[in-house]
Amino acid sequence: MIHRYSVFLLLCLFSSVLSRPSPAISRQILCDSTICIHYSPVDSTHARQALRILATARIEICADFRIVCRDTVHVVIASSRLAFRRHIEQGLPEWAHAFALPGMRTMVVRSPRWDRPEASFRQALVHELIHLVLYQQRGGRALPRWIDEGLALFYAEQLQWENRTLLSKALATGSLIPLQDIDNVLQFARSSADLAYQQSYSAVRYLLATYDIDAMRHIIAGYQAGEDMDALFLQATGSTMSGFEQEWLNHLEETQKWYWLTESDELIWLGIPVLFLLAVFALRRRNRRRLAQWQAEEAIAATLEALEEHPPDAPEEDTSSANSY
Ligand SMILES: [Zn+2]
Repeated sequence: MIHRYSVFLLLCLFSSVLSRPSPAISRQILCDSTICIHYSPVDSTHARQALRILATARIEICADFRIVCRDTVHVVIASSRLAFRRHIEQGLPEWAHAFALPGMRTMVVRSPRWDRPEASFRQALVHELIHLVLYQQRGGRALPRWIDEGLALFYAEQLQWENRTLLSKALATGSLIPLQDIDNVLQFARSSADLAYQQSYSAVRYLLATYDIDAMRHIIAGYQAGEDMDALFLQATGSTMSGFEQEWLNHLEETQKWYWLTESDELIWLGIPVLFLLAVFALRRRNRRRLAQWQAEEAIAATLEALEEHPPDAPEEDTSSANSY
């Protein structure tokens, strides 16, 4: 089941609508050559942890995409819920877990001290790092949101998105969201946003599994150079972007359309009493048939017995005609 707070947002908002890291909640800074963590003293352990996580993830991501990652990334660890919300004047939904400010090369994450225990600090950091790195890589051009979010979920190993039930139900009911509409995910209702993130993850995973990181690298690098997205998809996958989407949908149709049936506890618990009632009904029907059969057989036997004991009298001869002459 998808948890409502597991969704992460990329908010491409810029400094005009966002306040800069507040000194009140960012009293200390811990930096290596390309990453700076801004944190409150009570979060010093988490600051060191964040630096280790991001340094490792950044090497992997930059190697995968063959990027020279020179820009310094800033990380603000919000020391409280109030501090987290103070960074944004508008536009952040209540369920946002972390957010990236690509224009400022900054991410804001919740401190694990006050965040929900099931939330993963590592996943939040790596997810937002992908957004920042890809923004740098694409030179400010807006990637299709499903690629941006799908890659972020994939690299952050947010395995809750492996749960395919929601996707499978949407597929079976014909309610999947066209990939290009996911660009507007921030305007979606809660359930649609969950589906959009799950679709993004699934489509990116399919692209990487089928065409490898080479294809994704080609698409992103070409996009940065200003090439047309359909042409890039054609070169990388043999189909335009809409052709790739249809290919991915065909794959889902073959592998996942009825997956939700196997995962549905409701169906199991609904099915057991229904099966029980059907069995009782069949049993009673069979018993009624047997009873009727027995009664019919008894009636025939009684009739035969009665006939043996009291055979019917022979018909009397008609003598009227003999007397007429
Ligand atoms: Zn995101």
